[in-house]
Amino acid sequence: MSNAGFEVDLVSDTDSGSSEEATGSEDEVAAWIGWFCSLKGNEFFCEVDEEFIQDDFNLSGLSSQVSYYDYALDLILDADSPSTEILTDEQHELVESAAETLYGLIHVRYILTSRGMGAMYEKYKACEFGRCPRMLCNGQPCLPVGTCDVPRQSTVKIFCPKCQETYYPRSKYQGNVDGAFFGTTFPHLLLMSYPGMRPQQPPDRYVPRVFGFKLNAAALAPPNDSRDAQRNDATASRQGVAGNAAPANHTERTRPQAKRKDDAGPSQARSSQRLHG
Ligand SMILES: [Zn+2]
Repeated sequence: MSNAGFEVDLVSDTDSGSSEEATGSEDEVAAWIGWFCSLKGNEFFCEVDEEFIQDDFNLSGLSSQVSYYDYALDLILDADSPSTEILTDEQHELVESAAETLYGLIHVRYILTSRGMGAMYEKYKACEFGRCPRMLCNGQPCLPVGTCDVPRQSTVKIFCPKCQETYYPRSKYQGNVDGAFFGTTFPHLLLMSYPGMRPQQPPDRYVPRVFGFKLNAAALAPPNDSRDAQRNDATASRQGVAGNAAPANHTERTRPQAKRKDDAGPSQARSSQRLHG
């Protein structure tokens, strides 16, 4: 029920033209956030409203996940911490790193709100997350996705709404960003909230051909089939015998084949005896 309410909220937001609202909030964004989002590799991040970060409710549970939490939060909001002077250079670096993690953890929550999703929707429309590398998806714009919601487990990937596959981002800088800062839910919730952004047609399928002929499914199936396995074994043993044989001993090479004929012989003879007898 709460989900339905959320969707309605999102839809009504889009209808009222919230795109301007979502993007026209530059003056509410702290300088650190603007700087962080402009860094090379951070192009997938949207700028989180300062108002959202200032609401303690939105940050619940994060203080235990980030070291130097208070310093990091002050840094993100460009607030002067009265006690930052007592930090060593090394600690300052740790605070910087903590601020980046904290921003990511706030970001993944923000992009699931109607306002945050609106900001990401604008980026999606502008193709800022890259396009699907699959040839038959014809340059379909992608969305960022995490394969795990726990930080430091996997890097961000891009999801193609057309072929429903995930890919590595093109830029190696983007490829180093934590996937948990985008989460496993975001692209799918966005496509549910903006039905107009879903691809209208299913993707074309690639058809393998050999000399112009389509292949049947078995031709490219993994060789699990017992007949395939037998065929492979026979080929391998033949190749193995041929490979081991020195050019001089032709007898060695011909003997196993002859033996195989002999092996087949008696059973054939027996069955023919049965038939005739
Ligand atoms: Zn695709």
